[in-house]
Amino acid sequence: MADEAFFRNLPKVSLHDHLDGGLRPATMLEIADEVGHTLPASTPDALATWFTDAANSGSLERYLTTFAHTTALMQRAEDLRRVSAEWVLDQAADGVVAAETRWAPEQHQTMGLSLDETVEAVAQGLRDGMAQAKAAGTPIIARQILCAMRHADRSLEIARLALRHRDTDLVCGFDIAGGEVGNPASKHKAAFDLLRHEAFYYTIHAGEEGPLSSLLDAIDCGAMRIGHGVRTADDISRRTDGSFVLGRLASFIRNNRIPLEICPTSNVQTGAVTELAAHPLGVLAWLGFTVTINCDNKLMGGTTLSREYALVASAFQLSTTEMAQFALAGASALFLDHDEREALLRDMTSAWMAASFTDQSGQQH
Ligand SMILES: [Zn+2]
Repeated sequence: MADEAFFRNLPKVSLHDHLDGGLRPATMLEIADEVGHTLPASTPDALATWFTDAANSGSLERYLTTFAHTTALMQRAEDLRRVSAEWVLDQAADGVVAAETRWAPEQHQTMGLSLDETVEAVAQGLRDGMAQAKAAGTPIIARQILCAMRHADRSLEIARLALRHRDTDLVCGFDIAGGEVGNPASKHKAAFDLLRHEAFYYTIHAGEEGPLSSLLDAIDCGAMRIGHGVRTADDISRRTDGSFVLGRLASFIRNNRIPLEICPTSNVQTGAVTELAAHPLGVLAWLGFTVTINCDNKLMGGTTLSREYALVASAFQLSTTEMAQFALAGASALFLDHDEREALLRDMTSAWMAASFTDQSGQQH
C-alpha cells in the first residue's frame, strides 16, 4: 500500500487549509517570546503534542479553542507575512502544487492592523513563499481565501475586503468559518449576494457538525464548494438490495458537481465521524460526488496532505489510479483562472498516470 512518502512525490492540491491552523511550532515559540504571549508548552515537540491532544477531544467547539494561541501570534504584519511564507513552503515541501489558505482578517486586529493591512501582509508572505519554493525547485501557486466568522456580523465588510483585494493581493475567494450550530450561512446572505453580484467565488463551511438543514442552507446561499459536507451522507440511504437512494439535496450536490472539501483527520478529531474507516468519503466518491482531500489544520491534526492521502488509501484500500481522482478533482475545483488551472491539470494528470502504472513496490495497478 502506498505510504506518505509515495504521495509526497505526487502533485496535490490543497483547497481547505487554515493559515492559523498551520503554524510551525518553532516559529510560534519565537513569536510568542517577542510579543509576550504565554504558550502551553516550551519546546516545539511538546507544543505540537499539546495541539494534537487538545484537538483530539471529539468536539468542534473544543477544537476551535486551540486557535486562540495561534491567532495571538499573528497580529503584527511581519508575523502574518512570516507565517504565510512558511505555510507556502511547507505545502511545497509536501508536494502540493497549488494551495489556497484561508483565514479570518477580523481576528488579526488586536495590535492595530487595519483589515487591508492584514490582507496585504498575507499576500506578501504568499509571494515570499512562492518565490522561495520556486528557487528550491518546488514551484507552487498560492492564493488566499478570506473568511468571515459566522458568529459575528462582519461578513459584508469582509466580502467587500475580498473584492477590494481580488486583483492585487492573491485573494481568490471568500468563506465563513467557526461554530456552525446556531450560525447558519443564511445569516450572511447579504455577503454572498454581493459576491455573486460581483462574479466572485466562495466556499461555505457546512455539514461538518451541523445537521442536513445547515448544508441545505449553504446550498441555498449559492455555495460553489462545500467545506467538509460530511452530512451529505445523511441524505443517502440504502435499500435492502444494497443499492443507494439519494435525497434531493444529495442529488443536487452530485448533479451540480459541487466539490466537497473533505478533511479526514479533522473530521475524526471533531467527532464529525467516529473513525476514518467510517468516513462517508469512500461511498461519496464511489457514488460520483466531487470529493477532494484536505488537511483543514496541519498543526491540530499533526498531519500533512501526503499523510491524509496515505490514510485514505489505506482505510478504503484505494489504488493510485483511484487516489488520482481526488487530486485531479482538487485541481478542477481551484478558484483559479481557466488557463492556469488547465495547465496544472495537464501536468498533474501525466504525473499521476505515470505513478499509477508502478507504485513504490513495483506493483501494477
Ligand atoms: Zn475548515
